[in-house]
Amino acid sequence: MRLAKVITITGIVQGVGFRPFVYNLAREQGLGGWVRNDTAGVTLWVEGPSPALAVFERTLATGAPVQAVVFEIAARAVEPRGLEEFEIRKSAEQADQFVPISPEVATCADCVRELFDPADRRYRYSFINCTNCGPRFTIVEDIPYDRPLTTMAPFAMCAQCRAEYDDPGNRRFHAQPNACPVCGPRLELLDQSGNPVPCADVVGAVIERLRQGRIVAIKGLGGYHLACDAQNDKAVKTLRARKFREHKPFALMVADVQAARALGDVDPAGEALLSGTVRPIVLLRRRPDAPVSEAVAPGQMDLGVMLPYTPLHHVLLAEAGMILVMTSGNISDEPIAFRDDEALRRLNGLADYFLVHDRRIHIRTDDSVVRVVADKPLVLRRSRGYAPHPLILPFEFKAPILACGAELKNTFCLTRKRFAFLSHHIGDLENLETIEAFEQGIAHFQRIFNTTPACLAHDHHPEYLATKYALARDDIPRIGVQHHHAHIVGCMGENNVTAPVIGVAFDGTGYGDDGHIWGGEFLVCDDRDYRRAAHLQYVPLPGGAKAIKEPWRMAAVYLHKVFGDGMWDLPLAFVRDLDRARWRLIARMIQQQVNTPQTSSAGRLFDAVSALTGICREAFYEGQAAVELEMAAGDDDRVYEFDSRSEAGKTVVLPDAVIEGIVADLIEGESRGVIAARFHNTVAALIASQCDQLRRETGITTVALSGGCFQNMRLTRRVLALLTANGFSVLTHRHVPPNDGGLSLGQAIVANRRLDTSILNS
Ligand code: ZN
Ligand code: ZN
Ligand code: FE
Repeated sequence: MRLAKVITITGIVQGVGFRPFVYNLAREQGLGGWVRNDTAGVTLWVEGPSPALAVFERTLATGAPVQAVVFEIAARAVEPRGLEEFEIRKSAEQADQFVPISPEVATCADCVRELFDPADRRYRYSFINCTNCGPRFTIVEDIPYDRPLTTMAPFAMCAQCRAEYDDPGNRRFHAQPNACPVCGPRLELLDQSGNPVPCADVVGAVIERLRQGRIVAIKGLGGYHLACDAQNDKAVKTLRARKFREHKPFALMVADVQAARALGDVDPAGEALLSGTVRPIVLLRRRPDAPVSEAVAPGQMDLGVMLPYTPLHHVLLAEAGMILVMTSGNISDEPIAFRDDEALRRLNGLADYFLVHDRRIHIRTDDSVVRVVADKPLVLRRSRGYAPHPLILPFEFKAPILACGAELKNTFCLTRKRFAFLSHHIGDLENLETIEAFEQGIAHFQRIFNTTPACLAHDHHPEYLATKYALARDDIPRIGVQHHHAHIVGCMGENNVTAPVIGVAFDGTGYGDDGHIWGGEFLVCDDRDYRRAAHLQYVPLPGGAKAIKEPWRMAAVYLHKVFGDGMWDLPLAFVRDLDRARWRLIARMIQQQVNTPQTSSAGRLFDAVSALTGICREAFYEGQAAVELEMAAGDDDRVYEFDSRSEAGKTVVLPDAVIEGIVADLIEGESRGVIAARFHNTVAALIASQCDQLRRETGITTVALSGGCFQNMRLTRRVLALLTANGFSVLTHRHVPPNDGGLSLGQAIVANRRLDTSILNS
């Protein structure tokens, strides 16, 4: 029997090879009809024998191209018209021009095969790509996503490339960055002053220099990397010295999963991440015999490892047979360099050579960072390969909203209908370059998603530059969202939850509604309002930001809080080493309340314990003390005691007994490993116990965990285990970072709920 159907597919189905997929599928099944892009997404007419049609529909639902995100497939039966041929029709007029742009996709298996085939015309060609892989977001300048509006515009396709591009049966049909050695971008090697180094084989010349221990800046998809031989101690140390990056670990790139296994433990989830289509930096538990220089990641328990994701990486890694350091091309905290002239200027003195090419990068994106927690990926930095993929929410935003995010690890978020476009990682908004990247990023998102925000959402912190940006735009309504509420709602958002939850927001710093610095918070909230139900007890933060860089200050604060001046009699290494004169100054600051805010930060409690146990007294990067405390933790199941009391309708959690327990253990001569383990157990236990109490009070059985502390695997695993054993359903982050990188999503959702649309029309 002959049947016909009209099928509409909504979702991210344009510019991802969906029409050729439909075309080929219909032809394979001997079906007639047509397919075209339109405002809904993709619409098609298909007709033929009913068994073939059934296969077609089944495959349509399950075999979509890797980059497509199918929302919904709606089919209705129609009268067959006797169409025998299947064709791709021109796009229907799009009233509301809007096509979600795909992120970058790592080189696909087909392209890799051609890349290493000496008979292929793209043999060893660094810019090979197809509809299933290659650059996207980083080369798009404007919409529609079409070659003239990308940084591929200057390259006119040769006849062979053109033929592929025009052939619906070809893997390169409408692959906008399609290119070959005849017509496409080319590599070039420059010396440190930017003068070309003549060489017949650029990649070969780069490998030679890497072998000699040189540092080479390599232009990638979203910016420059600094590369060197990870096994060459001298080279790695030189790079570290030049970058002024004393402690932050360097990422590594290896040829394949097998090589990654020599560096760290790769479980199935880790393997899928390493070799998937995104190819982020994956944090692997380091093997003791990992064959790389100690200077790659001094004192770290993890190594950040990624596999090649561009054709250039593939050729480089396969032919070099090396483990490469591939760290972002910047000096310490500046954003990664991505424009050629800028790279030469800013990386001058860092790199001995530059491996460049003539395809411009339009928008800077860093490598994403992911770790596996409880057998599933947890995105810690959401950037290349993920952005600008939208999160799809269970509701429509009332109006386009721009959420400006936080100060550190900034991302912003632009919404449209059911989509929340969470931006790539912008960085710490602390210098001019990053502010520019933030503003350019916003302008770019507004352009490519054809969306002008009708409302701004921002943090309450008056000193955040993202807040200042929002407050300076007084042309549209602005809605302030409390930091930890935004964290929790971000977590609810990615889990499609809008009903009330118990929110546990544990992080370093967030501006509280009482003007204090919050960070150990239990909220009872939905996606509109919250109540601060419990928090860690306030302690002074002497010197503000200085206390964050010097965890020993928090250790001294807690010791003094618990033991008073009796702390000087404690037989502790920490007390012995404490500079009494400095402490007296700090004690005076606290007493006179000079530059000493109050804080309920969980991050600072981790800092205090890390310093007290002699693990980290001074921090050179954000969160170092807590990271090293987690690293130090061994096996132990004991829990320290803790108390709480009721204060003005809130529960205040008192960590005094925890500090006493740790001091007693230190005096007993317990190892750091045991103490660190017990401390983690204790934080997990106090979270579980507060959740229990709040469930009794409110009847809410869902807990959402968010904030930078939940990057800590040990803590997260333990909290998850306790809460699930206790009958809670627990929401955690997966696709959106638990740190401040996820804040803008929560801000957008809260602002949407609070937005009074009647003021928009006035
Ligand atoms: Zn490909
Ligand atoms: Zn060509
Ligand atoms: Fe935070």
